[in-house]
Amino acid sequence: MPSQELIRDYHLLPALAEEKKAENELFRQFLKSIPSHRTDEVFLPLAEHITARIDCTNCGNCCRHLEPGISEEEAGKLASLKSLSKEIFIRDFTGREPETGVLFLNHQPCIFFDGTLCTIYENRPASCADFPHLTTGNFKFRYRSIMHLYSICPIVFNTVEQLKVALGFTIHRADEPPENNKPAGHPPTAPTGR
Ligand code: SF4
Ligand code: SF4
Repeated sequence: MPSQELIRDYHLLPALAEEKKAENELFRQFLKSIPSHRTDEVFLPLAEHITARIDCTNCGNCCRHLEPGISEEEAGKLASLKSLSKEIFIRDFTGREPETGVLFLNHQPCIFFDGTLCTIYENRPASCADFPHLTTGNFKFRYRSIMHLYSICPIVFNTVEQLKVALGFTIHRADEPPENNKPAGHPPTAPTGR
């Protein structure tokens, strides 16, 4: 298990993501040589380990930037929390994906967000409760969607950064041979603590 210092301040992420753009593309290429199940054997415990060490109540950055999907039933529940009819709530506070018809909350920050906290935490939609959606694994094939959150969510950022180390990914510099980015033979399978 790598022992890197965690980045907890979401303000730092956009600049770091920009700085690591080329590196992350190399990492995506690097992952092609590692079986998906092997990547997840490392990724899933790391994600759990880091989730337990980042306090979302000091962050809330997802609620500032994302538009969580909601079910029709959840729309009714959220409407009643706003003392509105479901129709008015859907009209004023949601969008609908054209291809799938799925509803989503379309205000940024979220209308239920205050400071760094969700004001309806016990009643938040399932997609919020599951955020940042790391427990399903399948990291390799979800790489692009997970990396969409890399500059927003400290849990995602730190998990990806520690995954690089745990899998033996190192940055290839112009003055180094490309062999530096070959995968490690036996990446660790579980966190060992930080
Ligand atoms: S899930 Fe990520 S972005 Fe959302 S509050 Fe927690 S650390 Fe912040
Ligand atoms: S419902 Fe709550 S958890 Fe979901 S985006 Fe809004 S403030 Fe965040």
